Amino acid sequence: MWFFNDEERELQKMCKDFAINELAPVATEHDENETFNIDAFKKMGELGLLGITADPEYGGSGLGATAATIVMDEFGYACASSTLSYLAHTILCVNNIEANASPEQKAKYLPKLISGEHIGAMAMTEADFGSDAIGIQTRAKRDGDNYIINGNKMWITNAERADVIYTYTRTGDEKKNLSTFIIEKDTPGYSFGRPLHKLGMRASPTGELVFENAKVPKANLVGKEGDSVYHMMKNLDIERITIAGISVGIARACLDNCLKYANERHQFGKPLGNFQMIQKMIAEMATDIEMMKHFIYSVCKDYDNGNRGKVVAAEVKLGIPKMVTKICLDAIQIHGGMGYSRELPLERMLRDNKLNEIGAGTNEVMVMIIARQLLKEAMPQ
Ligand SMILES: Cc1cc2nc3c(=O)[nH]c(=O)nc-3n(C[C@H](O)[C@H](O)[C@H](O)COP(=O)(O)OP(=O)(O)OC[C@H]3O[C@@H](n4cnc5c(N)ncnc54)[C@H](O)[C@@H]3O)c2cc1C
Repeated sequence: MWFFNDEERELQKMCKDFAINELAPVATEHDENETFNIDAFKKMGELGLLGITADPEYGGSGLGATAATIVMDEFGYACASSTLSYLAHTILCVNNIEANASPEQKAKYLPKLISGEHIGAMAMTEADFGSDAIGIQTRAKRDGDNYIINGNKMWITNAERADVIYTYTRTGDEKKNLSTFIIEKDTPGYSFGRPLHKLGMRASPTGELVFENAKVPKANLVGKEGDSVYHMMKNLDIERITIAGISVGIARACLDNCLKYANERHQFGKPLGNFQMIQKMIAEMATDIEMMKHFIYSVCKDYDNGNRGKVVAAEVKLGIPKMVTKICLDAIQIHGGMGYSRELPLERMLRDNKLNEIGAGTNEVMVMIIARQLLKEAMPQ
């Protein structure tokens, strides 16, 4: 993008090289086997990418939403599911600790998360509370110097691998009385429940977490008891922008595959690219990608300049993954039978992208956020 600074251009180049050399060659294998690319994760730590938004004092890069989205976009081009795990670690776990934890908690947890020695996760969703996240029922009760936590979490990215889980709980009966704890994997009473098998994002482990009288020191409470709704809502904006960044990468990969195939594949004695209906799909794909890039990166720049908006983050999240699902379908169409086959990565890209219409808030929840606010603002005084 013309408005990237030199540091952002360098980051983009580094991530592009890493994605092509480390993620793309094994993306299909990890998807088929539902395995996590731990080697790539460790190398991301060596490259300083695992604390992209964290303070350099703790080993982070001290960068913002633009840099984080560049990483998602470049990695998403090669392997969206490894990128989702990266997002859960850096944006859902590390960025939340960076933004909300005490200096002591940051000093204890961030260095190992940022070096890649530890893997992070964030646990908000429960089996009966997904879109209605504020209704969660996992309970934390104070018991002397500890809290006792009971409940289950569902759909948690990196669950079975996670050493540190940024976990939302209920600490009172009032709807908004939620509190966050940093949970370590060997906490007594905490365990990994079961892995969840999915349509896409299969190189990103997803699972259930179980808390049965889990004993957590009160030192692991983040901020004050009962004040977590604010943390939760604040981080959702960057989560929504960066997850849409993965979709931008998927869309670019679809277009590149289509351009190559439309030149190589001949029917009726001509390359596919000569047929106007194929040209229309390619031209619309390229136009949508340009619009998405300008939209997402200008929202990122605004975010980094302190001009943050819940509605615009929801618009990025609603608009981009939905457009990219259409792009994935058109890319499959352009490739005909080959597009439908598992020999090419296009069907994987479609399966992976669909998650981005669900995770971090569904399309319908984004519609609610955007429409409610606009209607409120337009209400006659
Ligand atoms: C692969 C994967 C990874 C995930 N990773 C994490 C993670 O790391 N941490 C975490 O905490 N969570 C995670 N999630 C959970 C994710 O955020 C939820 O799945 C999502 O918020 C939707 O919740 P739900 O699945 O319970 O669907 P529901 O809330 O039950 O929604 C079902 C359908 O009803 C619609 N709906 C719900 N309410 C309304 C309404 N008021 N009006 C109109 N339509 C409505 C929804 O849009 C959806 O279409 C992950 C999910 C997946 C699939």
